[in-house]
Amino acid sequence: MTHPTVNQPTTQQDYINLEDRYGAHNYHPLPVVLARGQGAKVWDTDGKEYLDFLSAYSAVNQGHCHPKIVGAMVEQAQTLTLTSRAFYNDKLGPYEEFVTRYFGFDKVLPMNTGAEAVETALKLARKYAYEVKGIPENEALIIVCENNFHGRTTTIISFSNDENARRSFGPYTGGFLRIPYDDLGALEAALNAHAGRVAGFLVEPIQGEAGVYVPQEGYLSGAKALCEQHGALFIADEVQTGIARTGKRLAVDHENVKPDILILGKALSGGAYPVSAVLADDAVMNVIRPGQHGSTFGGNPVAGAVAVAALTVAEDEGLAERAEALGQKFRSALSEYVAQSRVAKLVRGKGLLNAVVINDHEDSDTAWNICLKMAERGLLAKPTHGNIIRFAPPLVISEADLERGIRIITDTLREFEGQGEEVTLEEINHPQRVEQV
Ligand SMILES: *Cc1c(COP(=O)(O)O)cnc(C)c1O
Repeated sequence: MTHPTVNQPTTQQDYINLEDRYGAHNYHPLPVVLARGQGAKVWDTDGKEYLDFLSAYSAVNQGHCHPKIVGAMVEQAQTLTLTSRAFYNDKLGPYEEFVTRYFGFDKVLPMNTGAEAVETALKLARKYAYEVKGIPENEALIIVCENNFHGRTTTIISFSNDENARRSFGPYTGGFLRIPYDDLGALEAALNAHAGRVAGFLVEPIQGEAGVYVPQEGYLSGAKALCEQHGALFIADEVQTGIARTGKRLAVDHENVKPDILILGKALSGGAYPVSAVLADDAVMNVIRPGQHGSTFGGNPVAGAVAVAALTVAEDEGLAERAEALGQKFRSALSEYVAQSRVAKLVRGKGLLNAVVINDHEDSDTAWNICLKMAERGLLAKPTHGNIIRFAPPLVISEADLERGIRIITDTLREFEGQGEEVTLEEINHPQRVEQV
């Protein structure tokens, strides 16, 4: 057997053609082929520079190729990469102490991807419900929100209401109850209607994928209080909002809420390596015993070293404070533009997790075309759900680069003035209202 010999691609189109020909078509990328990154900037294969206003969906909060994170990763990769959990390793324990003390929990369960961590949290909540709360076996319910995004596994898409994510992937996992987001009345009604059966409430503190929906102030603390009253676990999915993105270490910190189960991923490694984690106190975490859950790569020494470095950088470089200050600046500049715009309807967000809603229907190409034009002008962002563009640069972005980014965005929007079709605020706030499952 000889290994295949491949032609070296030269143009960006060559690389795009390769992905198109040999890769599954499970994404629809912007036509830009990136080859290098540093801080808030990335460069394509032709050497053209861009400001990265997506940050790999908020995984690269600490900036591309942060020297301290990459340094920790390289050093560990040259020493020991994987032992499996069949043995102890000398990086896991110190990381576990670090991450639990950093976020104020008794214990952590290390995994690799966000979806795996969500699955872990769901299993943990169910086991706790049966073994500690005494919910009858197989009857536990977990309440989730409309327009949620928690990942792509079969159980997670089972309780999604995004038809694209769900259709033709059934049969679906049961045991979930979907209620409107940002609606404490709906949460209370569901807790009452299913009293004695609710294991937990799984929620994103800000719905990122859905289009950066920021709930009303008091929603998270109110939800946590309702969960406490009804003996349900409050489970926060901070995979996208966590690690300084929204202007605090965690988005729940804005309302001084401590979740019963905290789910982290993405920026937990600064985008260098897949690292995710589930944190909880002993009462909950101790229901998991040897052999009941795991992952070959979860808790590996590279992950431990990388996560400690990534969390240290977030703190040492004051990334939460930067996100807060730069986010204010971003929203105030964009709000000023939007106020006299026809093509942009509103800007919303928290910290450096923001979105501009385009004044057009969900299935229109306007947001996509705006993103293509911004890329031409040297800024990368991507539409989420058709008519919404998310703007989430690395938190290390300089003030000058942020200002340059704002100029590119407003200059591009200006080109599109006069385009788009009027949509109602109702449509913007409730893009895909659906029946409960
Ligand atoms: C990205 C994301 C996930 C899934 O993470 P993966 O690493 O892609 O599996 C889960 N929850 C939220 C809120 C996310 O943004």
